[in-house]
Amino acid sequence: MTPRILRNFVAGEFVESGRTWDKIGPVDGTVIARVHEADAALVDRAVSAARAALDGAWGATTVAQRTALLRRVADRIEERFEEFVLAESADTGKPLAQARALDVARAVANFRSFADTVAAAGQPSFMTDLAGGRQALNYAVRKPLGVVAVIVPWNLPLLLLTWKVAPALACGNAVVVKPSEETPSTATLLAEVLDEAGVPAGVYNVVHGFGPDSAGQFLTEHPGIDGVTFTGSSATGAGIMRAVAPRVRPVSFELGGKNAALVFADADLDATLDGLTRSVFANTGQVCLCTERVYVQRPVFDEVAAGLVERARGLRLGRPDDAATTTGPLISAEHREKVLSYYRLAEEVGAKTLVGGAVPSLGDGLDGGWWIEPTLWTGLGNADRPMREEIFGPCAALVPFDTEDEAIALANDTDYGLASSVWTSNLSRGHRVAQAMNVGMSWVNTWFLRDLRSPFGGVGLSGIGREGGVHSLDFYTEPTNVCVQL
Ligand code: NAD
Repeated sequence: MTPRILRNFVAGEFVESGRTWDKIGPVDGTVIARVHEADAALVDRAVSAARAALDGAWGATTVAQRTALLRRVADRIEERFEEFVLAESADTGKPLAQARALDVARAVANFRSFADTVAAAGQPSFMTDLAGGRQALNYAVRKPLGVVAVIVPWNLPLLLLTWKVAPALACGNAVVVKPSEETPSTATLLAEVLDEAGVPAGVYNVVHGFGPDSAGQFLTEHPGIDGVTFTGSSATGAGIMRAVAPRVRPVSFELGGKNAALVFADADLDATLDGLTRSVFANTGQVCLCTERVYVQRPVFDEVAAGLVERARGLRLGRPDDAATTTGPLISAEHREKVLSYYRLAEEVGAKTLVGGAVPSLGDGLDGGWWIEPTLWTGLGNADRPMREEIFGPCAALVPFDTEDEAIALANDTDYGLASSVWTSNLSRGHRVAQAMNVGMSWVNTWFLRDLRSPFGGVGLSGIGREGGVHSLDFYTEPTNVCVQL
């Protein structure tokens, strides 16, 4: 296959640059795209284009005009659905069925959901009683934040990008997007779709590149940006905070996780095992919400371990277009080396590997890709590094517990705080334990079930702020309070 050429999108035009890199397909290690890397001058042009859009007609659009535009974008993505599916799957290696059911479907839903949210959003007002029987009326008007830098990772590229671009545009901002160097395709395709839908030039810009000394750093250090919304690793988030600190810009951070599942002996074990299989192995473990720590009440520990091992063995690694495939490769050689280093470390610190632990041999031309075996361990404790650090692969450790209090303490013993899941048939316990979790999102008897109006984000190393529904409006707008003496 001839590699596709991917260009930057600045001021409504696709722009080449003097430098390209090769995007490697994770399925078999071949070059699938040649990507034009934006230099500092091109990032500067993108920020200027966004500012010009805000100062021009885009800055005068009404909520009704913008929501209509968002709905047209959703329709256009649906019309070109399979193109998005193929592009997302080519970049990541994920099964086409998953790209259809989750990634691209959610992109459509993001545009519709934020159109609904913005259309329905009101603002509170306050009547203030003053001395002498007079009153004052206080109300706030929401203004766009301005030029928003949007930096996203490679695991759910289009889903996470549109989760930010849709509310940003709904609120009247202009964006400069920096997709991951591993997944440049769908952000580029989205530029075509936004353009076709009638989004004016300069409102959506894409700059391709890497982090340090590349487009990521040029963008976050640019004095013309008014805020950064970032999804990615906690270490990169910390670096972005430093980059924007001198100009005191707001940030919204959706970062890493080291998420726990708590399985109580009274849980419906079949449903729990199905849920755990998804939460540990979905997207080859490359979801920020994935479970890497499974705490299991002692009476059912052996049964849960055996059941999860059996389900791990049942996963099918294979080509994205094979309907039987459940599990794709990891994103890159570098990431596979990182995950394998934890596979080795787990055994060094005394883990027993129940299943997996190695690189599989798949044949069929796949052995040049970044495949890895789904892996489960016992014998690890909370002090061990594989229990404390985010691995971001298809793996988890099972650890026994006796009491509810012990389970809560074990689950909360982490520097992260993104998500948790509680598995029990005791209704009160479900609520109680879910609320005791020191996380942004706590599920009971399910995992990754999302209502796009609910708050999404994490505490501790897992992030700053919440996005979703009106929570997104809080980040993508600046309220100006007006106080009128009556
Ligand atoms: P990453 O932090 O390496 O990269 C994310 C993005 O930041 C990429 O576009 C990258 O090019 C850019 N970047 C890197 N260094 C930069 C710098 N110095 N300045 C500006 N930009 C820079 O993360 P990743 O490996 O792409 O993604 C995996 C991570 O993302 C995991 O930690 C995962 O948990 C996290 N994640 C979090 C959520 C969430 O919602 N909380 C969702 C998905 C992924």
